[in-house]
Amino acid sequence: MFLLDSHCDAPSMLLKGADFSKNVKEGQVDFPRLKRGGVDASFFAIYTSNELSADASTRRALEMIAKVYDAVESNPDKVALTTSVAEAKKNKRKGLISIFMGMENGAPIQRDLSLLRLFYKMGIRYMTLTHNGDNEICDSAATETKRWGGLSPFGVEVVQEMNRLGMLIDVSHISDMSFYDVLTYSKQPVVATHSCCRALCNHHRNMTDEMIEALAERGGVIQINFYPPFLDEKYQDVMPSYKRVVDHIDHVVDLVGVEHVGLGSDFDGIEITPVGLEDVSKMPKIIIELRKRGYSEHQINLIAGENFLRVMNNVIK
Ligand SMILES: [Zn+2]
Repeated sequence: MFLLDSHCDAPSMLLKGADFSKNVKEGQVDFPRLKRGGVDASFFAIYTSNELSADASTRRALEMIAKVYDAVESNPDKVALTTSVAEAKKNKRKGLISIFMGMENGAPIQRDLSLLRLFYKMGIRYMTLTHNGDNEICDSAATETKRWGGLSPFGVEVVQEMNRLGMLIDVSHISDMSFYDVLTYSKQPVVATHSCCRALCNHHRNMTDEMIEALAERGGVIQINFYPPFLDEKYQDVMPSYKRVVDHIDHVVDLVGVEHVGLGSDFDGIEITPVGLEDVSKMPKIIIELRKRGYSEHQINLIAGENFLRVMNNVIK
């Protein structure tokens, strides 16, 4: 099995000075716990808030990338910075965990495709087009304003350039209109690196069945987020257990089959967690629950990582 987590906010902890070579008490991710959780590859999110000015967001992204490089380079016996599926498989054979980088919010590229290309060269392999605000690229699921009514004209160029470069387009956080615009303009399958199902929990950050069907039709994948407010509307009354994550997986499987779903924890970006899934070392519980629900080993392998690796192989050059 190749276990992949397509989204965590570990770089935010690194920026605060966390030492990932040992247990980070105030966080949910570190290298020893990734190992204990059997995680083979983790995408570290280079996250910037939409509140930052353009230059501040570019600077913040550079600082975070630098911290990821430092953390990986000081732990060469545990992890390796990785940009392709082939390298990731090789790392696993060597007993190393692959650390990929994704960028959460396209604000750091400002209105400049050269900066997009530069971040790709630094190792960024997916970009979440925006976060909780409308930016130069598109509208967010979180806003009332909906500045562009979907993708901006610059956003269309960004999608086309990401296709050309071989960078995954992440549709988590973007508005429904932006999502459909991305599907119109992208020639490649797209991913939702940390999103849940709106049919099970009516939250604007989650995807409708229609969106999940459109994503799957293009060969994409939705990676289920562990954040309780996205898993269950009643989380404030009863905190959902880790099994609720598997309910969302079941829903996607029933809707579009087993080839279009995976795991995107959002650890280190979430202040509360499902019961039994307090940090990344608990990931095997999901695998055990999938087995209990009758999934075959082949199907579990797809969900655990092979679905996301397939899209990466199709998109990343
Ligand atoms: Zn996020």
